[in-house]
Amino acid sequence: MNKKPVIKKIKFIKQEQEEIDLINRGQVVPTVKTRIDKKGIKHDVIYRKHFAYGTANKRLFELFGGTCTVCKQWPDYKFTYDVGDAKRIERYCQKCYDKRWKSR
Ligand SMILES: [Zn+2]
Repeated sequence: MNKKPVIKKIKFIKQEQEEIDLINRGQVVPTVKTRIDKKGIKHDVIYRKHFAYGTANKRLFELFGGTCTVCKQWPDYKFTYDVGDAKRIERYCQKCYDKRWKSR
């Protein structure tokens, strides 16, 4: 039996989307870390780091959760199939999604 998948457009919160845009443009991504000093006062420290290619890719992978099942580009859609007591997840970019699901 082939159940229909649950299809979700992959969305990010504003901060994540900004981070993705920065990485894609090869720009510096600022990260804020909160430090607590000896008196117990919180300080926000901004780090600006330029991702090396591998690191940027790893971070994008974290944010997207994976790549397009077909072409390995960053995905736009997430498909969740219920297979018994497990879930199978597939991801598709816009192009592969259109090709596979709109041509019917
Ligand atoms: Zn694709």
